[in-house]
Amino acid sequence: MERSFYHAPGAPDEPNQDYIVVATALEGKVRAVAARTTNLSTKATLIHDLSPVAAAALGRFMTGTLLLASGLKNESDKMTVSIQSDGPLKGMTAVTGSGGHIKAFCVEPVVETTRHAPGKLDIKSAVGNGMLTVIKDIGLKEPYVGSVELVSGEIAEDFAYYLATSEQIHSIVSLGVLVDASGIRQAGGYLIQLLPGADDETIEYLEKRIHGGFPDVTFLLEEDLGPEKILDMFLGDPNIQFLEGRPLSFRCDCSKERMQAALITLGKAELEALAKDPEGIELACHFCNRKYHFGEKELGELIADDN
Ligand SMILES: [Zn+2]
Repeated sequence: MERSFYHAPGAPDEPNQDYIVVATALEGKVRAVAARTTNLSTKATLIHDLSPVAAAALGRFMTGTLLLASGLKNESDKMTVSIQSDGPLKGMTAVTGSGGHIKAFCVEPVVETTRHAPGKLDIKSAVGNGMLTVIKDIGLKEPYVGSVELVSGEIAEDFAYYLATSEQIHSIVSLGVLVDASGIRQAGGYLIQLLPGADDETIEYLEKRIHGGFPDVTFLLEEDLGPEKILDMFLGDPNIQFLEGRPLSFRCDCSKERMQAALITLGKAELEALAKDPEGIELACHFCNRKYHFGEKELGELIADDN
């Protein structure tokens, strides 16, 4: 990837790495975030063996989640975003924090691929109707929970609608995943948010940018333009200020201890039934498919501890 004139502090130097950048522009009236998520989308596709439309949907969804989570500051902050819907995908869940790691899954990883037009995957039909829910845990007494109905199913508009209705932040969200026969070629997106000082002039200017034929984010990535350059082009402000950048990756934090904690919640009767199998049981993590084996003896100990 071309090293553009702009380089956000903290953004990786290695070409073709996934990363996110945060900027302000237009005299501080706008907060802008952009991310390249090609590698993490590819990893999710391989881990979950996703069919093309599921890969594109989950790629957009993870990118949207990362853009939304760009405001998290503390190491322990956590954001969980989920879609529950009636389309063949049935839903998706992603969890991320302030460190740039994300884990995610689709409820149904393999769905039939349909297209609206040649090369245009029909994500809307795969998602269907449903709800988008955001749970933000930033160390307050109760996590913040916001939920909106899906207005489009194409995911970007759904995130924008969530921000407008649940957080009262007018935003432009653009998400793109380009899939070909060999897998994901490009994935990324950007988010432009109006800050309290934004006036009608700023809004009008941004509207013109969106409706003025600004290229798809995947087209720009395909042209080797990174997140900084995409924001620079969209905003057209020579005084854009890049505040921070951080690498992004797909990474699951599951462990045998966590799986054990999940098992305990099943309750004693269920555990006793499972413990009857001399082979033990195997549990797979939803997020990364890693398998965890619990033998007869371990299950017996869990039951004993439960008393
Ligand atoms: Zn896992």
